[in-house]
Amino acid sequence: MFRQSKRVTSDRRAFLDAKMVLAAYPLRLSFYLTPPLEEITLEEFETWAIDRLKVLIEIELCVARGKSGRELEAAVMPVVKQHLSLLPSGAETEHERRKDHYSHFILRLVFCRSEELRKKFVRNETALFKLRYSWTLLHERRTFIDANRDVLPWDYIGPEEKQRMSAQLHAALYQLLRTLLALESEGKVTDEMVRQLMAAQEFIKVPFRNVPDLVAQRNVLLSQGMAYIPLTAQLSLLATEFSTRLEQALVRTFRTLPRLDEDDRLVPLLNHLAANFQAFEAGGDFSNPANALDITASTVMLPEILKHMPLCATRQLRGLMADHHLRYGARMQLGVFLKGIGLLVDEALVFWQEAFTSGPGSMNVERFNKDYRYNIRHMYGLEGSRTSYKPFNCAVIMNKPKPSAGEYHGCPYRDLQADALVEQLADLGITDKHDVTAVLDDVGQNNYNIACTRVFELTHKKDGGATHINHPNLYFDRSRQLERAEGKAKA
Ligand code: SF4
Repeated sequence: MFRQSKRVTSDRRAFLDAKMVLAAYPLRLSFYLTPPLEEITLEEFETWAIDRLKVLIEIELCVARGKSGRELEAAVMPVVKQHLSLLPSGAETEHERRKDHYSHFILRLVFCRSEELRKKFVRNETALFKLRYSWTLLHERRTFIDANRDVLPWDYIGPEEKQRMSAQLHAALYQLLRTLLALESEGKVTDEMVRQLMAAQEFIKVPFRNVPDLVAQRNVLLSQGMAYIPLTAQLSLLATEFSTRLEQALVRTFRTLPRLDEDDRLVPLLNHLAANFQAFEAGGDFSNPANALDITASTVMLPEILKHMPLCATRQLRGLMADHHLRYGARMQLGVFLKGIGLLVDEALVFWQEAFTSGPGSMNVERFNKDYRYNIRHMYGLEGSRTSYKPFNCAVIMNKPKPSAGEYHGCPYRDLQADALVEQLADLGITDKHDVTAVLDDVGQNNYNIACTRVFELTHKKDGGATHINHPNLYFDRSRQLERAEGKAKA
């Protein structure tokens, strides 16, 4: 599927007839039934997969936050536009359709490795399929259905059967058709309009187990084990078909995976992709590998990364740099926070070792390896009970005892004296008397999350998308998202 050298690729690609490529991807929607056969470069292999991964992770984040429908679409569309160019306008090129095809199959190799990963991949790919379906035009949908007649397990019912069942169809599907009409037309929906739609409507029938969503919503007529569905409500059916086929394909891919172990070019790339997804997973619902790819031992302390962190994290990092050590509470709180923003375990070991062993009075590497290495690996689920710890949210942090002298865990808004907090605010550039008083008032009323949210808004000079900060990683994630959005707006 790929080749090693870009030069060879460009030479060969010169011979490819663009029409042939377009013919290979005539539709914007795909069930991804046929694996790609052309060769691509290693660079394309990796970048295309990462781009798709970013889209799937955005979907995963939205679903985790309970977004669906229009909210999900609003959040995901910009990411899709940026990374997959599968535009609602249908203006993507054959190159982009090809990228879509290849990236899907590359991520199958990454996500086929466990049942849990397979489930996530199927769920997110199915959500992407549904979104893209909703962005297609009516004639494209028909073309897609026609092109996949061989694989869709539905039968169109003929005029005789439709006539015979008309009363039942009308009774069972009246409300559904009325709702569909109401969505399409702005005026009042009359009974006559519903009757006309019913008369013009093609119906399909499928085994009812294939459409659990529609059955649960009572949007089908059930008769003798078959579900009768108007063609206008076909998305649920297509999505079920899509996810069923993908589930089966992933299991087949998993069985063939051992053969890949012989390929020393592919395996590191796949491991890298899997590690990025796991970093996102480990970070709970808020970290974003789209951001996290640049988080390493050498970048954590850079101003451009530090400026996105909440006060609790920056305070712990300052304590770490000053003391070349952190006690268990702060070590754990900061460790899982950094893990959540994307610091992979190998990088974490480098980061903690350097922090503990550099500077006057610090310990040596042997002592670090003996006393702390296990602890860091344990945090990442690689030792002991193999529990992969998630970053603490603010509630967990504030449930723990307040720090004593020389300790840095906890929430600064709760734990610092007013003058020390004012100093920290000044470091963030918050010196306006009115602003400082507002933060101190929040603190005085024990509204620590509101104080933190206020600081977020003041330091970002705008409303952070009505985000209520209740998690340090949410703070970091939102801050980077805002910066990314501003960067795009300026570009
Ligand atoms: Fe950290 Fe939460 Fe406190 Fe903000 S409110 S400083 S995120 S613990």
